[in-house]
Amino acid sequence: MLGLMQEWPLLCHKLIDNAERQHGGREIVSRSIEGPIVRTTYADIHRRALQVAERLEQDGFRLGDRIATLAWNTARHIEAWYGIMGIGAIYHTLNPRLFPEQIAWIMNNAEDRAIFVDLTFVPLLEKIAGQVKSLRQVIVLTDQAHMPQTSLPNAVAYEEWLAEADGVFAWKTFDENTAAGMCYTSGTTGDPKGVLYSHRSNVLHAMIAAMPDAMGISARDVILPVVPMFHANAWGLGQSAPMIGAKLVMPGCKMDGASIYELLDTEKVTFSAAVPTVWMMLLQYIEETGRKLPYLNKVVIGGSSCPRAITKKFQDNYDVQVVHAWGMTEMSPLGTLCTMKPEHENLEGEARLDLQGKQGFPPFGVEMKVTDDDNNALPWDGKTFGHLKVRGPAVARGYYGGVGSEQFDAEGWFDTGDVAHIDASGYMQITDRAKDVIKSGGEWISTIDLENLAVGHPDVAEAAAIGVPHSKWGERPLLVVVRKPGKEPSKNDILAFMNGKVAKWWMPDDVAFVSEIPHTATGKIQKISLRQQFKEYRLPTD
Ligand code: AMP
Repeated sequence: MLGLMQEWPLLCHKLIDNAERQHGGREIVSRSIEGPIVRTTYADIHRRALQVAERLEQDGFRLGDRIATLAWNTARHIEAWYGIMGIGAIYHTLNPRLFPEQIAWIMNNAEDRAIFVDLTFVPLLEKIAGQVKSLRQVIVLTDQAHMPQTSLPNAVAYEEWLAEADGVFAWKTFDENTAAGMCYTSGTTGDPKGVLYSHRSNVLHAMIAAMPDAMGISARDVILPVVPMFHANAWGLGQSAPMIGAKLVMPGCKMDGASIYELLDTEKVTFSAAVPTVWMMLLQYIEETGRKLPYLNKVVIGGSSCPRAITKKFQDNYDVQVVHAWGMTEMSPLGTLCTMKPEHENLEGEARLDLQGKQGFPPFGVEMKVTDDDNNALPWDGKTFGHLKVRGPAVARGYYGGVGSEQFDAEGWFDTGDVAHIDASGYMQITDRAKDVIKSGGEWISTIDLENLAVGHPDVAEAAAIGVPHSKWGERPLLVVVRKPGKEPSKNDILAFMNGKVAKWWMPDDVAFVSEIPHTATGKIQKISLRQQFKEYRLPTD
């Protein structure tokens, strides 16, 4: 017998409809690419998104068309997203930090037919547009007054293009499993792979992300997504914020400490999310200038492991709660968040920081397990680490074009490529990427543990651990360190600091100092090029 409840397809435009009806006057504040701070509301965004949808349809775009965006976080980018989805087309966020050839490859693979592009990226697009066969229209996210001279064919200014539609338009309806958005993984091994979100997965993810023990956000929050919309949907905030009706503050292209601080302060931001590097810059700025953070309640930190020093400073010096989180483009992206279960609520000091160093537990909607190489489930004992596998309604079940099928098994588990352990309370901790783990004498050494420990040294700015070939052990750890400006810690200083805090056989065999560690387009340490750089390195122990 079937239930007698209504069919109400989970379509993304219902999120923006709800924002308009219930929270129409709530502000969306953007630092515009042209410079000034621009204020709009959910009612404005809703109306203009309808115009985008109508205007795209006038230009001949239809259900299933891939429409790229190469843009920072602004209200216009949000309007473009909802307008694109509102006709059943697919927004495709491009990461401008990738190499131009890689962006062209991705656009060709997705067969993008149109693109919304910020002024910042017009020169970049000019370089590659000729290589993208499917591209037939370019909409520059500005007005005619700011429109640059450009060689881009069919380039129009967004505001004038939009004004040709009156917005008297009804969203298209379709099955909730219809594709809504697309984002490519950064492709540190091989070509990037396309992840294709559906309307249903986006709406469910928005609900999951907002739950109290996940991001815990509400209409009373003022949300600043520093994490870009091109980095895995701004971790879902582009959908969750309209769903709950929170005021949004969009940072545009300025992510330095002073610019972020200015928005946090003037807009009274209560909640924000970003990768650790952004928070390091902000904390450095407020320490140097003696500022305070009176309004900020909570920051979600993820994308790479959150150093203990950041968590400690936020909490002890500024009374801001830190939620360490882990996720992936393939997971929409939230996987786990480190909020407190009641049994941990009274933890204090170092014990609390120990727990917060973990990536946390999954909200309802994400299942996880760790397995050995033969897919046997490993115990949740907080120390046995293995391959981290996940499944859920906002987790990919395949990549665009059917590539990478070996990461998905018959029972629906997706192999994340991360290595982790899970403790008896269900808290997961990432110890490595499977391809980065150091294998010494057949046993695994966690590079993330070594790195987290090394950056705890007061004179270390950044650290990366890599495996270097060793004739006896197969591989041994080498610690690559960037010193803080004006500081000169020696190898022995750093090793002495680490000694006793990890198993003896995990201790790096050597420390190499460099001026810079290479990073990927999403801010992660680029271990492949680091290993390449040190491939001839001879350890003193060999
Ligand atoms: P992306 O799809 O670009 O967001 O990258 C996802 C990958 O980033 C994950 O598979 C992890 O390897 C890494 N990652 C994300 N969050 C964390 C975290 N909190 N700690 C350690 N690694 C993380």
